Amino acid sequence: MAILHYDYIIIGAGAAGLMLADTMGKDDFFSDKSILLLDKDTKKENDRTWCFWEKGEGQFDAIVHKKWHHIYFAGQQLAKSYKIAPYIYKMVRGIDFYTTYLDRIKNYSNITFKQDAVTSINESHDAVKVQTSKETYSAASVMNSIFDYDMVMHQDKYPVLQQHFIGWVVKTDKPTFEIDLATYMDFSIPQKGNTRFMYVLPFSNDTALIEYTLFSEKLLPKAEYEEAIKTYLKSEFDCTQYEILDKEKGSIPMTCYDFMEHHTDRIRYIGTAGGWAKPSTGYTFLSTSKKIPKLVSFLKTGKPLKALHFKNRFWYYDMLLLDVLHHNNAIGHKIFERIFKKRKPQLLFKFLDEQTSLAEDFYYIMGSPKFPFLKALLKRLF
Ligand SMILES: Cc1cc2nc3c(=O)[nH]c(=O)nc-3n(C[C@H](O)[C@H](O)[C@H](O)COP(=O)(O)OP(=O)(O)OC[C@H]3O[C@@H](n4cnc5c(N)ncnc54)[C@H](O)[C@@H]3O)c2cc1C
Repeated sequence: MAILHYDYIIIGAGAAGLMLADTMGKDDFFSDKSILLLDKDTKKENDRTWCFWEKGEGQFDAIVHKKWHHIYFAGQQLAKSYKIAPYIYKMVRGIDFYTTYLDRIKNYSNITFKQDAVTSINESHDAVKVQTSKETYSAASVMNSIFDYDMVMHQDKYPVLQQHFIGWVVKTDKPTFEIDLATYMDFSIPQKGNTRFMYVLPFSNDTALIEYTLFSEKLLPKAEYEEAIKTYLKSEFDCTQYEILDKEKGSIPMTCYDFMEHHTDRIRYIGTAGGWAKPSTGYTFLSTSKKIPKLVSFLKTGKPLKALHFKNRFWYYDMLLLDVLHHNNAIGHKIFERIFKKRKPQLLFKFLDEQTSLAEDFYYIMGSPKFPFLKALLKRLF
């Protein structure tokens, strides 16, 4: 069978693959380059919702489904709503993103989207061969967003936690939710030896996405997440009558494992598979949109793909938090409660966006419990 050759192949038309294809499609540098975008799925399902915070307007505003100007945080002693201006907490539905971006990509004559599952990838000195269930392709460079936990589980230098959750979109029989208040983290629920919290995104006063979320090593049986959502609806909102409109579930890797070892001269891992999920939070969507332009500029240089580095000092802070949570998973609620007690959410957002100055980092870090972090630091050093 003939091998179909492209200049670039992007594997996966999820968040990273579609943002990358769109950015390359818009850029004249690539107008005479052929680009193949492959995904095993049609991308016609609303399989996830993405939330992120940013100041004012942003590049996804046309597809933002809902915005919140206030967030709620609860610990075991603290329960408080915060105005987050100048930040806005925004939500994009997967389906709106996939439809909009795939439509845009149809208009780029140099990009072809094919629904086809990749079965193997082999690199030789002058090309990469991509085998799918239907065809054999080759390309000079491949950007791959297929993530598998095996990528991170073969080592024990960096702990691997997961941000895992099940969420229900519920419609209640009476006004129940404050529509401009997103529950960022509610740790008032039983912790059972882990870092467990509820996350609530109201769409109207009777409809909301409610997620039972953990930062821990092991997934739970499905019934445990669902039971916790039911219990929370009753205890927090006195709500027993509701319809479940939709469900979502996920597991996002939380690790400082160095994904660099997977990149080669011609293959670059992107998105979650490239280590772009923020280790300490799992937030990936907006940071992916910030990494993509850097990757695209880098592609233009023609340098080996493994030579692009994103690591910065925030990686070390994330590593310490994950070390602490790995060593004592029950302590998470205390850390977050202390931070919300001592520091403003605006500073938390800026820190998590990796935009704080060194002085601000220090001030932020001094707002968290010192002993567990010092212990984790000493363990790393000696
Ligand atoms: C339910 C859920 C909710 C999330 N919510 C948030 C959030 O609120 N905020 C945030 O910042 N992050 C969130 N994340 C984390 C992260 O933003 C998403 O996982 C995001 O989709 C990662 O983008 P990606 O491109 O790396 O992976 P994906 O979007 O998963 O894309 C990978 C693509 O590869 C395709 N693929 C897989 N195997 C093959 C194969 N063999 N051949 C061809 N194609 C293949 C898949 O079909 C998929 O389309 C969430 C994750 C999940 C799962």
